[in-house]
Amino acid sequence: MLLHETISEHCLKFKLPGVLENYQHLADTATKEKISYSEYLYKLLELENSGRELRGKQMVLKMAGLPKLKTIDTFDYKSSSVDKTLINEILTLRFIDEFKNILLFGPSGVGKTHLATAIAYAATQQRIKTKFITASDLMIQLETAAATNRLDNYFKRVIGIPRLLIIDEFGYVKFTETQANLFFQIINKKYELGSIIITSNLSFTKWKEVLNNDEALTAAILDRLIHHSHLINVTGESYRLKQKREAGLLNISAK
Ligand code: ADP
Ligand code: MG
Repeated sequence: MLLHETISEHCLKFKLPGVLENYQHLADTATKEKISYSEYLYKLLELENSGRELRGKQMVLKMAGLPKLKTIDTFDYKSSSVDKTLINEILTLRFIDEFKNILLFGPSGVGKTHLATAIAYAATQQRIKTKFITASDLMIQLETAAATNRLDNYFKRVIGIPRLLIIDEFGYVKFTETQANLFFQIINKKYELGSIIITSNLSFTKWKEVLNNDEALTAAILDRLIHHSHLINVTGESYRLKQKREAGLLNISAK
């Protein structure tokens, strides 16, 4: 009992929850199965390691702030115009090592957020620090930070720490002059230091309208975003509408 208490204390002190949780039952099996001391230690350390990896993934996933958990497994390529080979290439996450960006364009409902979320999820599973945010939430947070003199801190936390930043729904809300400038700072700070994924319902030619009609600023933002990037156009009709229509057609033919 005393031995167990001391082991417990050491495990807590050295932050070894996996060892604490497993050492006793593993010792029982080791005795039964005549496993060597070295192998016992190896198995125990393996359990500590796998527990750490799992907790790391869970932590990174939580920090990412995904709106809904969507993975590529539930993405139906047959209903989409996107190139499966390209998405598979992106899912290797090499683009993050290469500081490349991904720009996903297309009308509402074609799966842009689904794809961005699936890529973000894949990154979290490699324990790559990721941050998912909508353009309008990003603006609210930036302006709040600016108003309270915490902009530097916000940049460090949201732009500096995540290696992958996903800005969803660029284009639904037009930016003010201040917001457009803050958006430029985000892109500029991340440029060649990390990867950005942006989803947008607007093609490049319309981005100026979102960015307070500032031509020079728009050009500077696009220049940085496009420099090393995958541009993906998702065409077609809304997946939601398509499903509804198909459900409707099925009802008719069943009568
Ligand atoms: P967008 O961001 O382009 O407006 P979403 O990604 O939000 O569209 O997609 C709308 C809904 O349709 C979501 O529930 C999404 O999971 C689903 N969806 C869209 N395209 C596909 C697809 N090709 N396969 C499976 N689900 C899809
Ligand atoms: Mg979306």
